[in-house]
Amino acid sequence: MALVTCKLCRKVFTAAGGRTCPDCKKRLDDLYMKVRDFLRDNPKIEFNVDTLSDSLDADIRDVQALVDMGYLDRDFKANLSGEESSRQKLALELEKSLNEMKASAASQAQKGAVSYGQQLYSDKTRRR
Ligand SMILES: [Zn+2]
Repeated sequence: MALVTCKLCRKVFTAAGGRTCPDCKKRLDDLYMKVRDFLRDNPKIEFNVDTLSDSLDADIRDVQALVDMGYLDRDFKANLSGEESSRQKLALELEKSLNEMKASAASQAQKGAVSYGQQLYSDKTRRR
């Protein structure tokens, strides 16, 4: 049995498969329930560790610990991916139209170059 220092309260405890002591684990579990309820009730809110700890009146280190331990991965990702996908879509559309503009500009420049070259060539051949 290994003794571990709790990374939250620095208490030394007997490790049982985690890096937080049973007290902190319980506090985090309770906090997680609150966070989940909060996220469910406020699906539109843009949140991060700061706003969560503010809204829930929780210690920011506890919220951060939840994030670090992967508690909020699913909730965060669900919320973030919703945000991201609409943002990403916009960015993609913007990029696409930019690329189209670039592509048509490039192809026009190319056509210009080619016809210029052909003209030069044909001028030369005509002169011969
Ligand atoms: Zn602890």
